Amino acid sequence: MQSAPTFKLVLIGESGVGKTSLFMRVKENRFCSEAALGLEFCTADATVDGVRIKLALWDTAGVERFRTLTRNYYRHCHCALLVCSLDDKSSLDNLHRWNQDVDFYCKDCLKVIVANKNDLQPEVSAEQLQNFASTFGCKQVFYVSAKTGDGVQQLLTDTGRLLMGAH
Ligand code: GDP
Ligand code: MG
Repeated sequence: MQSAPTFKLVLIGESGVGKTSLFMRVKENRFCSEAALGLEFCTADATVDGVRIKLALWDTAGVERFRTLTRNYYRHCHCALLVCSLDDKSSLDNLHRWNQDVDFYCKDCLKVIVANKNDLQPEVSAEQLQNFASTFGCKQVFYVSAKTGDGVQQLLTDTGRLLMGAH
């Protein structure tokens, strides 16, 4: 039997936007912003047009606070999930810098925007997100909530579909 196509996805974005919460939502389907120490990635299965694929999701383990995400983190990455928080405009403004890192370390990877915390009153508009996406070559904008789980499965499935189309 052929093994399922596997893709590496990295969570990117400033501290506090909810990367670890998204990671835990995918890993254990619960709302929690503490991941086990040393845990680098978890895997999720998705089905794209009848084909089973594996998504290996990587979290930063908090080191983004010191901007010390290394080349290793991005190595062989297929997709960067650029995460911002809908209730915090500065988190979208700061994505510029993270986007530069992604362009530097993984030139050909797929980029999508993940607008997290859509259970809260938004401070960022759909237009601002769309502008960012078209300016920086992000394929799609996803609205999710790690807290309620809203949109998370859709994010995995649709990103999987984009990855299958691109590879
Ligand atoms: P990280 O620094 O990017 O890993 O962010 P965390 O996952 O540690 O989350 C930062 C804070 O945002 C924590 O207090 C989380 O409980 C909270 N948070 C994360 N995701 C959501 C969400 O979807 N909705 C709400 N309301 N809060 C969230
Ligand atoms: Mg974290």
